[in-house]
Amino acid sequence: TKEIAVVGGGLAGSEAAWQIAQRGIKVRLYEMRPEKFTPAHRTSYLAELVCSNSFRSNSLENAAGILKQEMRMLKSIIMHCADSTKVPAGSALAVDRERFSVMVTEKLKHHPNIEIIRKEIKEIPVDGLITIIATGPLTSDALAENVKKITGSEYLYFYDAAAPIVFKDSIDFNKAFWASRYNKGGAHYINCPMNKKEYYDFYRELLSGERYGVKEFEKEIYFEGCMPIEVMAERGPDTLLFGPLKPVGIKDPKTNTQPFAVVQLRQDNKEGSLFNLVGFQTSLKWGEQKRIFRMIPGLEKAEFARYGFIHRNTFISSPKVLMPTMQVKQNKNLFFAGQITGVEGYIESAANGLVAGINAARLLIGIEPLVFPKETIIGALCSYITESDPENFQPMKSNFGILPQAEMGKLSKSEKKRILSRYALDKMACFIDKKITKN
Ligand code: FAD
Repeated sequence: TKEIAVVGGGLAGSEAAWQIAQRGIKVRLYEMRPEKFTPAHRTSYLAELVCSNSFRSNSLENAAGILKQEMRMLKSIIMHCADSTKVPAGSALAVDRERFSVMVTEKLKHHPNIEIIRKEIKEIPVDGLITIIATGPLTSDALAENVKKITGSEYLYFYDAAAPIVFKDSIDFNKAFWASRYNKGGAHYINCPMNKKEYYDFYRELLSGERYGVKEFEKEIYFEGCMPIEVMAERGPDTLLFGPLKPVGIKDPKTNTQPFAVVQLRQDNKEGSLFNLVGFQTSLKWGEQKRIFRMIPGLEKAEFARYGFIHRNTFISSPKVLMPTMQVKQNKNLFFAGQITGVEGYIESAANGLVAGINAARLLIGIEPLVFPKETIIGALCSYITESDPENFQPMKSNFGILPQAEMGKLSKSEKKRILSRYALDKMACFIDKKITKN
């Protein structure tokens, strides 16, 4: 009999296994727990939620909400179990974490096409089968070594320290200005100038801002050259003026002088709608990031597409390694799915597992794997991780900035979101009808 191997019974692996099994194909789902635990998992359930119990917004005016709806349309097991075990959380979808994981585990355990094998996988591909690797941000070391061999060692990152990303249209250009240091190579950066008082006020808040605790397994990150900005600030009041906030070579066109300090923002996506704060990787709590980074002149009303974070994260350089079908360019029988591909978050990982599952099943029965439409959040995420600049590739959550940017004139933000939302869901309905139901 023909089978597919899925490695990792997390959010992505569980969804991938379900999608394959529902298409009448046998799946071997390998999960190393409870034989071996990651530093964050605590139970032996499939699809364990390692931290928050929230899947974020459920609203169709929010990209995470649209993503959920797209997944429901594709008969996602993760969404079915999340909707069935939800707890009150306003406009967000939060779940009873234990009931959720138990339900996913039971559904998979009792599926006639799924065999769950509790074993750490160290070699790929598995048993010579079409294989999906969905071992997440805390992939075991032995397997990570082999992933390196396939993807090239420089294409596997072990730590993830990311700077916050803001929407360009929320930046105040009465204060911020375009320039590059020493005017080299065109004015590609957005610069937020600070005077002396603004800098020291900011510095004080940065030092006292509340942080996420650094867990034992995350300590070594500081030796990896990606020090959090607040830790760098602890070295002295002026350290940042020689680091991420250095003003040399930058003139504010309004005063024609060099500001006391400058925060630079770099373009983050092809469309130019998202910008990251250069050098601002941080372990400050999200609320604190919003409060403190909004003290930066020009960012008073900044909307964050993603907050900065630091944790261990194993992910491959998908722009170099993967096709938008989630197949490895050099080996079409091997797929990656979930957080290891550079999508960020529970629901994004599950959605990505869904794509890999559908495509692995198609490959096995001899039909062309699918590229999901870029106008849908699922498709836009696949496109973002496989088409971004590989040099600056960092994980990404669902947000409106990754969708193709249509010219919509003077509509209000919420009207624009409603249009993008309706368009994404229409596109998905059409795609399912034409490409998925009929095959
Ligand atoms: P996982 O859910 O981690 O699943 C991977 C599975 O593979 C695990 O069950 C693991 O045991 C198994 N495995 C690993 N190696 C092997 C092997 N060699 N053989 C067999 N099995 C193996 N996201 C959020 O949305 N919200 C949060 O609050 C949040 N907090 C986080 C906190 C921490 C500390 C970390 C590390 C991540 C957090 N994330 C959070 C990101 C989160 O990990 C992902 O969103 C999601 O769990 C990724 O899904 P996944 O299926 O890719 O990986």
